[in-house]
Amino acid sequence: MSQTLFEKIIAREISADIVYEDNLVLAFRDINPQAPTHVLVIPKKPIPRISEAEESDQEVLGHLLLKARLVAKELGLAKNGFRLVINNGYDGGESVPHLHCHILGGRALSWPPG
Ligand code: 5GP
Repeated sequence: MSQTLFEKIIAREISADIVYEDNLVLAFRDINPQAPTHVLVIPKKPIPRISEAEESDQEVLGHLLLKARLVAKELGLAKNGFRLVINNGYDGGESVPHLHCHILGGRALSWPPG
């Protein structure tokens, strides 16, 4: 299997503006930000999308959410709020087949999404 774009970012084969890293997850700024702050948090394990996660991924998925919370706080988003988004599959708008949680903040976000 060829590496996804995000696996190449984990391996430092493609550069990214990394804001957080530990043994399970990596967080970096989105190359095409949709809000003043737009960060992607990804598991280092190459889970393609949330619909393909397994029961055994419980720890990494819980960790991903807790670290999204930490990164949002450290980037100053906790007071005014922020949005976490996981796009899944074609209708969900997923474009990179490596699970990622968007952190969007720094402006008021509309609802519902387009
Ligand atoms: P999706 O549409 O799959 O939910 O989100 C994928 C995200 O990856 C998009 O917001 C897109 O801007 C971002 N992205 C695509 N290529 C790169 C890249 O090379 N570097 C970074 N930092 N983000 C990327």
